[in-house]
Amino acid sequence: MEKTDFKKRVKEFKKEFPSLKEKVLLKDHTAWRMGGPAKYFLEIKNKDELEKAIISAKKINLPFFVLGGGSNILVSDKGFRGLIIKINNLGFEVEEKNGKMEILAGAGLSLGSLSAKLLKAQAGGMEWSSSIPGSLGGAVFGNAGAFGSCLSDSAEWIEALEVKNKKCAFKKYFKKNCAFSYRSSVFKKKAPNIIIFSVCLSLEKSKEGEISKKMKGYADFRKKRHPLDFPSAGSVFKNYYKPIKNKKLVLQFPELENFNQKKEIPAGWLIEKSGLKGKRFGKAQISEKHCNFFINLGGAKAKDMRALIKFAQKKVEKDFGIELMEEIIYLP
Ligand SMILES: Cc1cc2nc3c(=O)[nH]c(=O)nc-3n(C[C@H](O)[C@H](O)[C@H](O)COP(=O)(O)OP(=O)(O)OC[C@H]3O[C@@H](n4cnc5c(N)ncnc54)[C@H](O)[C@@H]3O)c2cc1C
Repeated sequence: MEKTDFKKRVKEFKKEFPSLKEKVLLKDHTAWRMGGPAKYFLEIKNKDELEKAIISAKKINLPFFVLGGGSNILVSDKGFRGLIIKINNLGFEVEEKNGKMEILAGAGLSLGSLSAKLLKAQAGGMEWSSSIPGSLGGAVFGNAGAFGSCLSDSAEWIEALEVKNKKCAFKKYFKKNCAFSYRSSVFKKKAPNIIIFSVCLSLEKSKEGEISKKMKGYADFRKKRHPLDFPSAGSVFKNYYKPIKNKKLVLQFPELENFNQKKEIPAGWLIEKSGLKGKRFGKAQISEKHCNFFINLGGAKAKDMRALIKFAQKKVEKDFGIELMEEIIYLP
Protein backbone atom coordinates (compact mmCIF):
# COMPACT_ATOMS: atom_id res chain seq x y z
CA MET A 1 0.00 0.00 0.00
CA GLU A 2 1.26 3.51 -0.89
CA LYS A 3 2.26 5.67 2.09
CA THR A 4 -0.30 8.38 1.20
CA ASP A 5 -3.00 5.73 0.80
CA PHE A 6 -2.08 4.27 4.23
CA LYS A 7 -2.24 7.73 5.83
CA LYS A 8 -5.65 8.35 4.26
CA ARG A 9 -6.99 5.03 5.56
CA VAL A 10 -5.60 5.67 9.05
CA LYS A 11 -7.40 9.03 8.99
CA GLU A 12 -10.62 7.22 8.10
CA PHE A 13 -9.94 4.68 10.84
CA LYS A 14 -9.57 7.48 13.40
CA LYS A 15 -12.81 9.05 12.20
CA GLU A 16 -14.61 5.73 12.55
CA PHE A 17 -13.36 5.28 16.12
CA PRO A 18 -13.37 8.67 17.85
CA SER A 19 -12.27 7.06 21.12
CA LEU A 20 -9.05 5.79 19.51
CA LYS A 21 -6.04 6.93 21.52
CA GLU A 22 -2.50 7.35 20.21
CA LYS A 23 0.93 6.85 21.78
CA VAL A 24 -0.44 5.19 24.90
CA LEU A 25 2.29 4.08 27.31
CA LEU A 26 1.86 0.37 27.82
CA LYS A 27 3.75 0.34 31.09
CA ASP A 28 0.61 1.92 32.54
CA HIS A 29 -1.38 -1.12 31.37
CA THR A 30 0.88 -3.97 32.50
CA ALA A 31 1.38 -5.60 35.89
CA TRP A 32 5.17 -5.51 35.32
CA ARG A 33 5.03 -1.72 34.79
CA MET A 34 7.26 -1.96 31.74
CA GLY A 35 6.82 -1.27 28.05
CA GLY A 36 6.91 1.60 25.58
CA PRO A 37 4.04 3.25 23.69
CA ALA A 38 1.36 1.63 21.58
CA LYS A 39 0.83 3.51 18.32
CA TYR A 40 -2.96 3.10 18.65
CA PHE A 41 -5.08 2.00 21.59
CA LEU A 42 -8.79 1.22 21.46
CA GLU A 43 -11.12 0.10 24.24
CA ILE A 44 -13.95 -2.10 23.04
CA LYS A 45 -17.25 -2.64 24.85
CA ASN A 46 -19.47 -4.40 22.35
CA LYS A 47 -19.37 -7.02 19.60
CA ASP A 48 -20.11 -4.64 16.72
CA GLU A 49 -17.25 -2.34 17.70
CA LEU A 50 -14.87 -5.27 17.95
CA GLU A 51 -15.79 -6.66 14.56
CA LYS A 52 -15.58 -3.24 12.91
CA ALA A 53 -12.20 -2.47 14.50
CA ILE A 54 -10.66 -5.75 13.33
CA ILE A 55 -11.99 -5.42 9.78
CA SER A 56 -10.72 -1.83 9.57
CA ALA A 57 -7.30 -2.74 11.00
CA LYS A 58 -7.03 -5.64 8.55
CA LYS A 59 -7.88 -3.36 5.61
CA ILE A 60 -4.90 -1.12 6.38
CA ASN A 61 -2.61 -4.00 7.38
CA LEU A 62 -2.33 -2.65 10.90
CA PRO A 63 -1.10 -5.38 13.25
CA PHE A 64 -3.26 -5.76 16.35
CA PHE A 65 -2.81 -7.22 19.82
CA VAL A 66 -5.58 -8.03 22.30
CA LEU A 67 -4.93 -6.78 25.80
CA GLY A 68 -6.64 -8.07 28.91
CA GLY A 69 -5.32 -6.99 32.30
CA GLY A 70 -1.70 -6.95 31.09
CA SER A 71 -0.66 -9.28 33.92
CA ASN A 72 1.04 -11.91 31.78
CA ILE A 73 2.88 -9.90 29.12
CA LEU A 74 6.32 -8.41 28.66
CA VAL A 75 6.09 -5.39 26.38
CA SER A 76 9.22 -4.15 24.62
CA ASP A 77 10.70 -0.80 25.68
CA LYS A 78 10.08 0.29 22.10
CA GLY A 79 6.38 -0.43 22.49
CA PHE A 80 4.10 -1.76 19.76
CA ARG A 81 3.70 -0.16 16.32
CA GLY A 82 0.16 -1.40 15.88
CA LEU A 83 -3.28 -1.36 17.43
CA ILE A 84 -3.91 -2.49 20.98
CA ILE A 85 -7.45 -3.68 21.49
CA LYS A 86 -8.51 -3.70 25.09
CA ILE A 87 -11.58 -5.81 25.68
CA ASN A 88 -13.87 -4.01 28.09
CA ASN A 89 -16.91 -6.27 28.07
CA LEU A 90 -17.86 -6.25 31.75
CA GLY A 91 -21.20 -8.07 31.51
CA PHE A 92 -22.34 -10.46 34.23
CA GLU A 93 -25.51 -12.58 34.27
CA VAL A 94 -26.49 -15.49 36.50
CA GLU A 95 -29.05 -18.20 35.87
CA GLU A 96 -29.84 -21.27 37.96
CA LYS A 97 -30.28 -24.31 35.72
CA ASN A 98 -30.79 -27.91 36.89
CA GLY A 99 -29.18 -27.19 40.26
CA LYS A 100 -26.15 -25.52 38.62
CA MET A 101 -25.24 -21.83 38.45
CA GLU A 102 -24.71 -20.74 34.88
CA ILE A 103 -22.71 -17.53 34.62
CA LEU A 104 -22.32 -15.46 31.47
CA ALA A 105 -19.43 -13.09 32.05
CA GLY A 106 -17.63 -10.51 29.91
CA ALA A 107 -14.02 -11.27 28.94
CA GLY A 108 -12.98 -7.84 30.21
CA LEU A 109 -14.02 -8.49 33.82
CA SER A 110 -11.03 -8.67 36.14
CA LEU A 111 -10.80 -11.95 38.03
CA GLY A 112 -11.05 -9.90 41.23
CA SER A 113 -14.35 -8.27 40.29
CA LEU A 114 -15.67 -11.53 38.86
CA SER A 115 -14.93 -13.15 42.24
CA ALA A 116 -16.75 -10.39 44.11
CA LYS A 117 -19.80 -10.93 41.87
CA LEU A 118 -19.65 -14.72 42.29
CA LEU A 119 -19.45 -14.30 46.06
CA LYS A 120 -22.58 -12.15 46.01
CA ALA A 121 -24.35 -14.66 43.75
CA GLN A 122 -23.20 -17.50 46.06
CA ALA A 123 -21.65 -19.39 43.15
CA GLY A 124 -18.71 -21.58 44.15
CA GLY A 125 -15.88 -23.18 42.17
CA MET A 126 -13.74 -20.26 41.01
CA GLU A 127 -12.35 -19.25 44.42
CA TRP A 128 -8.82 -20.25 43.32
CA SER A 129 -8.84 -17.34 40.85
CA SER A 130 -9.93 -14.60 43.25
CA SER A 131 -6.45 -13.21 43.93
CA ILE A 132 -5.01 -13.66 40.44
CA PRO A 133 -4.65 -10.38 38.57
CA GLY A 134 -5.81 -10.07 34.98
CA SER A 135 -9.02 -10.46 33.05
CA LEU A 136 -11.33 -13.40 32.49
CA GLY A 137 -10.43 -13.32 28.76
CA GLY A 138 -6.72 -13.59 29.60
CA ALA A 139 -7.48 -16.44 32.01
CA VAL A 140 -9.28 -18.37 29.25
CA PHE A 141 -6.47 -17.66 26.78
CA GLY A 142 -3.80 -19.17 29.07
CA ASN A 143 -6.12 -21.58 30.90
CA ALA A 144 -5.03 -19.90 34.14
CA GLY A 145 -4.98 -22.03 37.23
CA ALA A 146 -3.87 -22.36 40.83
CA PHE A 147 -4.24 -24.67 43.82
CA GLY A 148 -5.06 -27.69 41.65
CA SER A 149 -7.87 -26.01 39.68
CA CYS A 150 -7.94 -24.20 36.37
CA LEU A 151 -10.29 -22.19 34.19
CA SER A 152 -11.21 -25.11 31.96
CA ASP A 153 -12.73 -26.94 35.00
CA SER A 154 -15.61 -24.45 34.97
CA ALA A 155 -15.81 -23.29 31.35
CA GLU A 156 -18.84 -24.40 29.35
CA TRP A 157 -18.43 -22.33 26.20
CA ILE A 158 -16.66 -19.23 24.99
CA GLU A 159 -17.99 -16.65 22.57
CA ALA A 160 -15.17 -15.31 20.45
CA LEU A 161 -14.49 -13.45 17.23
CA GLU A 162 -12.69 -15.62 14.73
CA VAL A 163 -10.52 -13.60 12.35
CA LYS A 164 -9.75 -15.02 8.93
CA ASN A 165 -7.95 -12.93 6.32
CA LYS A 166 -10.16 -9.84 5.97
CA LYS A 167 -13.31 -11.52 7.27
CA CYS A 168 -14.41 -12.26 10.78
CA ALA A 169 -17.36 -13.83 12.57
CA PHE A 170 -18.46 -14.54 16.12
CA LYS A 171 -18.47 -18.20 17.05
CA LYS A 172 -19.32 -20.27 20.12
CA TYR A 173 -16.47 -22.56 21.20
CA PHE A 174 -17.75 -25.38 23.39
CA LYS A 175 -15.23 -26.69 25.91
CA LYS A 176 -14.37 -29.74 23.83
CA ASN A 177 -13.26 -27.44 20.99
CA CYS A 178 -11.13 -25.15 23.15
CA ALA A 179 -8.06 -27.46 23.23
CA PHE A 180 -7.50 -26.57 26.87
CA SER A 181 -4.30 -27.95 28.40
CA TYR A 182 -1.77 -26.78 30.98
CA ARG A 183 -1.60 -22.97 30.45
CA SER A 184 -2.81 -23.31 26.89
CA SER A 185 -5.90 -23.23 24.69
CA VAL A 186 -6.94 -22.97 21.06
CA PHE A 187 -7.10 -19.19 21.59
CA LYS A 188 -3.40 -19.15 22.49
CA LYS A 189 -2.43 -21.50 19.68
CA LYS A 190 -4.21 -19.36 17.09
CA ALA A 191 -3.38 -15.93 18.61
CA PRO A 192 -4.18 -13.21 17.78
CA ASN A 193 -6.87 -14.57 15.50
CA ILE A 194 -9.52 -15.61 18.02
CA ILE A 195 -10.67 -12.84 20.31
CA ILE A 196 -12.54 -13.91 23.42
CA PHE A 197 -15.59 -11.76 24.13
CA SER A 198 -17.65 -13.59 26.73
CA VAL A 199 -17.44 -16.75 28.77
CA CYS A 200 -20.06 -19.16 30.07
CA LEU A 201 -19.09 -20.80 33.37
CA SER A 202 -20.90 -23.62 35.11
CA LEU A 203 -20.55 -23.33 38.90
CA GLU A 204 -22.04 -24.84 42.04
CA LYS A 205 -24.53 -23.25 44.39
CA SER A 206 -22.54 -22.47 47.54
CA LYS A 207 -22.64 -20.28 50.65
CA GLU A 208 -21.11 -16.82 50.98
CA GLY A 209 -19.23 -17.81 54.14
CA GLU A 210 -17.68 -20.88 52.51
CA ILE A 211 -16.67 -18.98 49.39
CA SER A 212 -15.07 -16.12 51.27
CA LYS A 213 -13.23 -18.51 53.62
CA LYS A 214 -11.65 -20.27 50.62
CA MET A 215 -10.78 -16.97 48.95
CA LYS A 216 -9.11 -15.68 52.10
CA GLY A 217 -7.10 -18.90 52.47
CA TYR A 218 -5.76 -18.59 48.93
CA ALA A 219 -4.97 -14.88 49.32
CA ASP A 220 -3.10 -15.54 52.60
CA PHE A 221 -1.07 -18.30 50.93
CA ARG A 222 -0.07 -15.92 48.14
CA LYS A 223 0.89 -13.15 50.56
CA LYS A 224 3.21 -15.55 52.37
CA ARG A 225 4.81 -17.17 49.31
CA HIS A 226 4.83 -14.54 46.57
CA PRO A 227 6.74 -11.24 46.30
CA LEU A 228 3.61 -9.12 46.01
CA ASP A 229 5.37 -5.88 47.02
CA PHE A 230 6.98 -5.59 43.58
CA PRO A 231 5.52 -5.52 40.06
CA SER A 232 5.73 -8.94 38.42
CA ALA A 233 3.87 -11.12 35.93
CA GLY A 234 3.41 -14.02 38.32
CA SER A 235 5.21 -17.17 37.22
CA VAL A 236 7.49 -16.49 34.27
CA PHE A 237 7.97 -20.16 33.33
CA LYS A 238 5.69 -23.19 33.22
CA ASN A 239 6.51 -26.00 35.62
CA TYR A 240 8.19 -29.04 34.07
CA TYR A 241 5.97 -32.11 33.78
CA LYS A 242 8.43 -34.95 33.20
CA PRO A 243 10.67 -36.80 35.62
CA ILE A 244 14.42 -36.07 35.67
CA LYS A 245 16.13 -39.42 35.31
CA ASN A 246 19.78 -38.32 35.61
CA LYS A 247 21.02 -40.34 38.62
CA LYS A 248 23.77 -37.85 39.50
CA LEU A 249 21.20 -35.06 39.78
CA VAL A 250 18.83 -37.21 41.86
CA LEU A 251 21.69 -37.98 44.26
CA GLN A 252 22.69 -34.31 44.44
CA PHE A 253 19.09 -33.11 44.96
CA PRO A 254 17.07 -35.69 46.95
CA GLU A 255 13.91 -33.53 46.59
CA LEU A 256 13.88 -34.64 42.94
CA GLU A 257 12.62 -38.09 43.94
CA ASN A 258 9.49 -36.53 45.37
CA PHE A 259 9.02 -34.24 42.34
CA ASN A 260 9.64 -37.17 39.98
CA GLN A 261 6.90 -39.16 41.69
CA LYS A 262 4.46 -36.28 41.26
CA LYS A 263 5.77 -35.81 37.70
CA GLU A 264 5.94 -32.06 38.34
CA ILE A 265 9.14 -30.11 38.87
CA PRO A 266 8.51 -26.51 39.91
CA ALA A 267 10.26 -24.02 37.62
CA GLY A 268 11.07 -21.85 40.66
CA TRP A 269 12.90 -24.75 42.32
CA LEU A 270 14.97 -25.38 39.16
CA ILE A 271 15.92 -21.69 38.95
CA GLU A 272 16.82 -21.57 42.65
CA LYS A 273 18.96 -24.71 42.43
CA SER A 274 20.72 -23.20 39.43
CA GLY A 275 21.98 -20.57 41.87
CA LEU A 276 19.95 -17.69 40.49
CA LYS A 277 18.03 -16.54 43.57
CA GLY A 278 18.25 -12.73 43.63
CA LYS A 279 20.10 -12.54 40.28
CA ARG A 280 19.82 -9.04 38.83
CA PHE A 281 20.13 -7.40 35.43
CA GLY A 282 19.71 -3.66 36.01
CA LYS A 283 16.46 -3.22 37.93
CA ALA A 284 15.12 -6.62 36.88
CA GLN A 285 15.55 -9.29 39.53
CA ILE A 286 14.75 -12.94 40.17
CA SER A 287 12.82 -12.73 43.43
CA GLU A 288 14.51 -14.05 46.55
CA LYS A 289 11.09 -15.06 47.89
CA HIS A 290 9.99 -17.14 44.87
CA CYS A 291 12.42 -17.76 42.01
CA ASN A 292 9.76 -18.12 39.30
CA PHE A 293 8.72 -14.51 39.98
CA PHE A 294 10.91 -11.98 38.18
CA ILE A 295 10.37 -8.58 39.75
CA ASN A 296 10.69 -4.97 38.69
CA LEU A 297 12.65 -3.23 41.44
CA GLY A 298 11.55 0.14 40.04
CA GLY A 299 12.15 1.51 36.54
CA ALA A 300 13.34 -1.85 35.11
CA LYS A 301 13.85 -2.06 31.36
CA ALA A 302 11.98 -4.75 29.42
CA LYS A 303 15.30 -5.39 27.65
CA ASP A 304 16.91 -6.35 30.99
CA MET A 305 13.92 -8.47 32.04
CA ARG A 306 13.99 -10.36 28.77
CA ALA A 307 17.76 -10.91 29.05
CA LEU A 308 17.30 -12.18 32.62
CA ILE A 309 14.59 -14.61 31.49
CA LYS A 310 16.80 -15.95 28.69
CA PHE A 311 19.76 -16.16 31.09
CA ALA A 312 17.74 -18.26 33.58
CA GLN A 313 16.48 -20.48 30.76
CA LYS A 314 20.03 -21.18 29.57
CA LYS A 315 21.39 -21.78 33.09
CA VAL A 316 18.63 -24.28 33.95
CA GLU A 317 19.24 -26.05 30.65
CA LYS A 318 22.96 -26.24 31.38
CA ASP A 319 22.49 -27.49 34.97
CA PHE A 320 19.47 -29.79 34.54
CA GLY A 321 19.19 -30.48 30.81
CA ILE A 322 15.68 -29.00 30.83
CA GLU A 323 14.36 -26.29 28.57
CA LEU A 324 11.92 -24.22 30.59
CA MET A 325 9.06 -22.79 28.54
CA GLU A 326 7.75 -19.30 29.20
CA GLU A 327 4.25 -18.84 30.57
CA ILE A 328 4.43 -15.12 29.81
CA ILE A 329 3.81 -13.63 26.36
CA TYR A 330 6.23 -11.23 24.65
CA LEU A 331 4.91 -8.18 22.79
CA PRO A 332 6.01 -7.96 20.05
C1 LIG B 1 1.10 -11.51 41.07
C2 LIG B 1 0.62 -12.40 39.97
C3 LIG B 1 0.17 -13.68 40.28
C4 LIG B 1 -0.27 -14.54 39.27
N1 LIG B 1 -0.70 -15.78 39.61
C5 LIG B 1 -1.16 -16.61 38.62
C6 LIG B 1 -1.63 -17.91 38.96
O1 LIG B 1 -1.67 -18.33 40.10
N2 LIG B 1 -2.06 -18.70 37.93
C7 LIG B 1 -2.06 -18.27 36.63
O2 LIG B 1 -2.47 -19.05 35.75
N3 LIG B 1 -1.61 -17.05 36.30
C8 LIG B 1 -1.16 -16.22 37.25
N4 LIG B 1 -0.70 -14.97 36.92
C9 LIG B 1 -0.61 -14.58 35.51
C10 LIG B 1 -1.83 -13.81 34.96
O3 LIG B 1 -2.45 -13.08 35.97
C11 LIG B 1 -2.85 -14.74 34.34
O4 LIG B 1 -2.24 -15.52 33.35
C12 LIG B 1 -4.03 -13.97 33.72
O5 LIG B 1 -5.01 -14.90 33.39
C13 LIG B 1 -3.64 -13.18 32.47
O6 LIG B 1 -4.76 -12.40 32.09
P1 LIG B 1 -4.61 -10.93 31.53
O7 LIG B 1 -5.99 -10.45 31.24
O8 LIG B 1 -3.79 -10.08 32.41
O9 LIG B 1 -3.85 -11.21 30.17
P2 LIG B 1 -2.82 -10.24 29.41
O10 LIG B 1 -1.54 -10.21 30.18
O11 LIG B 1 -3.45 -8.94 29.09
O12 LIG B 1 -2.60 -11.08 28.10
C14 LIG B 1 -2.03 -12.35 28.12
C15 LIG B 1 -2.31 -13.02 26.77
O13 LIG B 1 -3.73 -13.24 26.68
C16 LIG B 1 -4.23 -12.66 25.49
N5 LIG B 1 -5.59 -12.18 25.76
C17 LIG B 1 -6.01 -11.45 26.83
N6 LIG B 1 -7.33 -11.22 26.73
C18 LIG B 1 -7.75 -11.80 25.59
C19 LIG B 1 -9.01 -11.90 24.92
N7 LIG B 1 -10.12 -11.34 25.42
N8 LIG B 1 -9.07 -12.56 23.73
C20 LIG B 1 -7.94 -13.14 23.20
N9 LIG B 1 -6.74 -13.07 23.78
C21 LIG B 1 -6.63 -12.41 24.96
C22 LIG B 1 -3.27 -11.53 25.15
O14 LIG B 1 -3.31 -11.20 23.77
C23 LIG B 1 -1.94 -12.13 25.59
O15 LIG B 1 -1.40 -12.90 24.54
C24 LIG B 1 -0.26 -14.09 37.92
C25 LIG B 1 0.18 -12.80 37.61
C26 LIG B 1 0.61 -11.96 38.63
C27 LIG B 1 1.06 -10.56 38.27
